[in-house]
Amino acid sequence: MSSGYQDRVVSLLEGSSKQQKTRPTVAVTHSPSHDLRTLRPAFHRLLEVMQPPMTKVIKRGDRVLLKPFLHHGRHSYPDSRLVSHPALIQVVMEALLDCGAQVMLGDEGSRSFASHTVPTSREWVHDLARRHDIALVSFAKSGARYVRSGLRFPRRYLLARAILDVDHVVNCANFQPHYVLGMSGAVKNIFNAVVGAGQSRLQQLFPQSMDLAKAIVDVCDVVRPSLSFLDLTSVRSSREVDEAHPVGLLLAGAEPSALDAVAVRAMGWDATRIPTLCAAECRRPGSTKLSNFGVVGLVEQLPDARCFDQVPVKHPATEKFYQRATRRLNHTILRPRPVINPITCTRCGDCARICPVNAIKSHGDSPPTIAHADCADCHLCLEACPTGAINTQFIGVSWALRRLTGRSLITN
Ligand code: SF4
Ligand code: SF4
Repeated sequence: MSSGYQDRVVSLLEGSSKQQKTRPTVAVTHSPSHDLRTLRPAFHRLLEVMQPPMTKVIKRGDRVLLKPFLHHGRHSYPDSRLVSHPALIQVVMEALLDCGAQVMLGDEGSRSFASHTVPTSREWVHDLARRHDIALVSFAKSGARYVRSGLRFPRRYLLARAILDVDHVVNCANFQPHYVLGMSGAVKNIFNAVVGAGQSRLQQLFPQSMDLAKAIVDVCDVVRPSLSFLDLTSVRSSREVDEAHPVGLLLAGAEPSALDAVAVRAMGWDATRIPTLCAAECRRPGSTKLSNFGVVGLVEQLPDARCFDQVPVKHPATEKFYQRATRRLNHTILRPRPVINPITCTRCGDCARICPVNAIKSHGDSPPTIAHADCADCHLCLEACPTGAINTQFIGVSWALRRLTGRSLITN
């Protein structure tokens, strides 16, 4: 580890020592590896100093959803460092069980959690839940409901009931660089509360990273996790390079954006180039300034970590007004809608069972019908249909406009 890196973390803590009694507080501890023999004592040191203490927040019998970051396609295997590490999930789970909580483990289930088969790269999650006798919750299958947003647009989000209908959400996030947001951490981990294709639609509606970051921060504020943990034990520098850099830090606290701010500062990165931190700062001035919150913990002996440079955030070209208007229309009023092919449909009813807003009605021997006025375009039915009988098509006005303008009527 460079001495510069160590100096940065030490100066961060020295600079904030006078603020320890103020809120929010971020607890920091040295975490050398994900080996349970070293991780468990490190995590217990973190629990001793974290504010508020876990035992004050989580009471016996509370229903707690533990939210790790699990979904990274083919990179979902435990040591990829692109998903939350199973060892950290395990120690957080054990601490919650010690508090007497009813723990559920769940993440965005919009894709493979909705299907009947478990991808090999994610079998470990099921093993972990089974070994601890913990319910594994699919956000897709748990249903969803609309929650008002704090933004002018969109006015509401379709969020998983699994994350809304519990006493506490405990955020078990993983730190990693992100080419749209600069970093993915505690705030971004909660964005998975938006079910199904809702997340990708927000990304299409907000191609500029700052606009997307405002929605991500807003979702995190709506969900309000009770406690957050952020893992920088090791950090992978990119999806392509299969190499994790030892950083050796574990953070905990109640305010996700404060955890992200400490992590970015510890990595020696420029917080003003991280859109989610800028969005949180715009929303609550001073909320990401280290001088406004306390940092407590044990970090005197940092590991010999090799750091890497902050990834540059990719900014798409600025759109002209009509380009922006067209893109918005194509992803809202003129968007393609789910349609059932009556020939390939076997009437199994899976689509009606998974639809979170009950927009699909089964009709016995006839194919189900979709009430498009109620449909939230989450695309969970497309994922769930075993015969691929549901696809998206332009219908109504968007179909007519495309016919008139000679544009393709086929969707991808
Ligand atoms: S899931 Fe597919 S096959 Fe089953 S009823 Fe729905 S459309 Fe038909
Ligand atoms: S009908 Fe609409 S809301 Fe229901 S699962 Fe399909 S896409 Fe989602």
